[in-house]
Amino acid sequence: MKKLLFATAFALFLFNHVQAQDSAYARSIVKALSSERMYGRGASYHGDSIAAEFLANEMKRIGLLPLQVNYKQYYTYDCYSLEGPISLSINGTELEPFAQYRVYSTARQATPAKLEKAKWKKQLKDDMWLIGVEQLDTYSPIVGPERKDPVCVEILDTLIPKRVRKIKAEIPVQFRHNYKSQNVVGYVRGVIDSMIVFTAHYDHCGTMGDGVIFPGAHDNASGVAAVMDLARMAAAQKPYYTMVFMLFSGEESGLKGSKYAAENPLIDYNKVKFLCNIDLFCGGDDGIMIFNAKSEKTKPLYDQIKSLNDETHAAKEIRARDNSANSDHYWFSNYCPSIFLLTMGQPYGGYHEPADKCESCGLGHYNAYMQMIKRLAFLD
Ligand SMILES: [Zn+2]
Repeated sequence: MKKLLFATAFALFLFNHVQAQDSAYARSIVKALSSERMYGRGASYHGDSIAAEFLANEMKRIGLLPLQVNYKQYYTYDCYSLEGPISLSINGTELEPFAQYRVYSTARQATPAKLEKAKWKKQLKDDMWLIGVEQLDTYSPIVGPERKDPVCVEILDTLIPKRVRKIKAEIPVQFRHNYKSQNVVGYVRGVIDSMIVFTAHYDHCGTMGDGVIFPGAHDNASGVAAVMDLARMAAAQKPYYTMVFMLFSGEESGLKGSKYAAENPLIDYNKVKFLCNIDLFCGGDDGIMIFNAKSEKTKPLYDQIKSLNDETHAAKEIRARDNSANSDHYWFSNYCPSIFLLTMGQPYGGYHEPADKCESCGLGHYNAYMQMIKRLAFLD
C-alpha cells in the first residue's frame, strides 16, 4: 500500500512537473517577445525583424529543420511606422498618447465621410487630421496606401477646450514603401509525409511613437509560445506526421505575411491533414472558440476537439464559428482544412493596449488546452 502510494505520488509529481515545464517554456517565449527590446514587433524600429531573429534562433536551438534559408521567408508590403518623439498639446496642455489620443489605421483614416461627420476637426498637416471623438476606438497599426485618405489622429471630445488657441503636434508617422518583413518557418520530419501545420502571427502593433509600446503578450506572443512549445515537443521525438510550424508577420496590418505564405507555398497543400492557427492564447476562462469549424473539410476536426474536451473537461465550452478573414488561417482555408483557435475570456491584460503585458498574461488554461492540442497532433 505504501509502495502504491509512493508510486502514485511520484506519478503525480512527474505529471505536474512535465506540465509545469510546458508552461514555463511558453512563459519564457511570451516574456521575450513582449519585452521592450522587440518594440511591439511591428514596423517601428524593425521590431518584427528583431522578433524574427529571436524565433529563427529558437527554432534552430530546439532542433527544427528550416523550410527556407535561415528559417525566413521574406516578403514586402507597404505600411507605416511611428518612431521617435510623439506629443500633442492644446493651449499648452500636454496630452497623454494612447490614453487621450491615438493615431489610426486605414479603416479609421480621415475619409471624406468621416471628416464631414466629425463635430470637431483640425488639419494638422496636408495628410493629417485631428478629430474629436466620443470614445477612442481599438488601436491597430496604420496600413496603406491602398487608400489615399489622410492619417487620422483621434482625440477625446472631452479634452478639447471651448476655445482652441494653439495646437502643437509632433506625430512621427513615416510611410514605408516595400517594407521588408519575414515569416519564420521550420519543420520536423515525421514517419509519414502527411503534414500537420501549426501557425501563429508573431507581429503586433509596434509603437505609437516613443511614448507607447504595445507588448502584445496575449496578441499573439501567447499563440507563438504554444506553437513553439509544440515544435519543441515534436523535435524531441519522431512524430508520426511531419510537423510544420509557421510564424507570420504583418497580421496586424491586414494578414500580410500569411497571405504571402499561402500564395507562395513552401509545402504541398495536398499533403496537409490539417492546419491549426493559434491567435490569442493567454485567456480561456470562458473556453475556446474555433473559426472555420463548420465547413465540410473542418467539421470532423471540430468534432474531434469537442470529443477530446468531453473526455478531459479542459474547456468550459468549445464554440464553433463560420470562416472569417480575422486571422492567418484564412488564406490557407482555400487550399487545405484550416481552423483558427482562440481562447475566450480572461486572464489577459488587454486587447491592442499597452497593458497587454507578460505579467497580465495568465496562461491559466495553458496546460489543459495544450494537452488537448497535443493529442490532436498525435504528439502525446
Ligand atoms: Zn491583434
